[in-house]
Amino acid sequence: MVIDMSRGFRSKGDVVRVAEAIRRLAGRVGRDLSFMGFCGTHEWTFTYFGLRSLLPGNVRIIAGPGCPVCITPGAYIDVAVRLSMEDVVVLTYGDAYKLPGTRGKPRSLSEARMLGGKVRVVYSFLDAVRIARSRGGLHVFLGVGFETTAPSVASPIRRGVVPENLLILPAYRLTPPIMEYMLSSVDDVPIDGIIAPGHVSAIIGAGSWSFVAEKYHRPVVVAGFEPLDVMLAILEMVVQVSKGETRLVNEYRRVVSWEGNREAQRALAEVFRIVDAGWRGIGVVPRSGYVFADKYSKHDAVVQLGLEKDLRSMRHDMPAGCRCSDVVLGRALPTDCPLFGKTCTPSKPYGPCMVGREGTCYIWALYGGPRIPAA
Ligand code: SF4
Repeated sequence: MVIDMSRGFRSKGDVVRVAEAIRRLAGRVGRDLSFMGFCGTHEWTFTYFGLRSLLPGNVRIIAGPGCPVCITPGAYIDVAVRLSMEDVVVLTYGDAYKLPGTRGKPRSLSEARMLGGKVRVVYSFLDAVRIARSRGGLHVFLGVGFETTAPSVASPIRRGVVPENLLILPAYRLTPPIMEYMLSSVDDVPIDGIIAPGHVSAIIGAGSWSFVAEKYHRPVVVAGFEPLDVMLAILEMVVQVSKGETRLVNEYRRVVSWEGNREAQRALAEVFRIVDAGWRGIGVVPRSGYVFADKYSKHDAVVQLGLEKDLRSMRHDMPAGCRCSDVVLGRALPTDCPLFGKTCTPSKPYGPCMVGREGTCYIWALYGGPRIPAA
């Protein structure tokens, strides 16, 4: 199929033409197909633009674990809340601000702030550096995210521009290990192919996802976040399934190279080391988290404030009744949760998938969930 990209990535006519090609081919495959969009932003694109309504009834799009706020263990929030109430200034991104921890009041950093806790929302780690420099006293930056955001901390630390009164509490997680965990350990979720994360791949490189095709024999497409990006990714995977092939394809070449960003990779490799790490509602996933390398432990809030034991606890990690862990593993839809839109809403999130713009529950609550697939 020839697509004229000069019409942009939101051309309705092109999206419909791709959908028709998916319909024709999926009909020939003759069975149900489930494709996982790894990123919360992919889920946003499918839902916001109502793309599921263009797909045939036997093609299902399921959400994946690519929402950093959803999978950050509650213990990190508990620790950050406690520090903020103990006269430490806690800085974090807006998405993590409302994220519920595992304890009672204050349950989140936003509640802590209302109760007098010292909490500041920042747009970047460099904002945190600037704030800590201009004020006295101890500051702790809660770093939440994947390989995309971790370099924004690693790079200034490597350059030696982070002041001594700013410590970092790193909750960064790595994406290929959770994908490998899902493909090797989660048996009850059928996955016929994966849309690999676009932003993360800009750092780690498209080649990082070759194991999905080679070891787990699934089509995998690195895709951007426009309607045409994700629809072309689905088409590519349906083509591969119909031919009995499994390959890695980089659809997002305008942003993602095969090797990724070498400079960011060097900063990550020098400043952090990789360890087994907890994912909220999922458990410990081998070699899936960053902690500071010994050389940089003076910046590490975990070491400097003796937080390791507090962070290890994953008991009662998920609020009672919340099905967010099933949602991020593709086992459940937000609408399967009895709390969806009742106890749990975007303005008053109860569970982690309702907190930020990459959370599936949040996206479905705002944009009406999926339209019914065409029969
Ligand atoms: S609607 Fe709320 S409580 Fe239910 S799964 Fe989603 S985040 Fe959890």
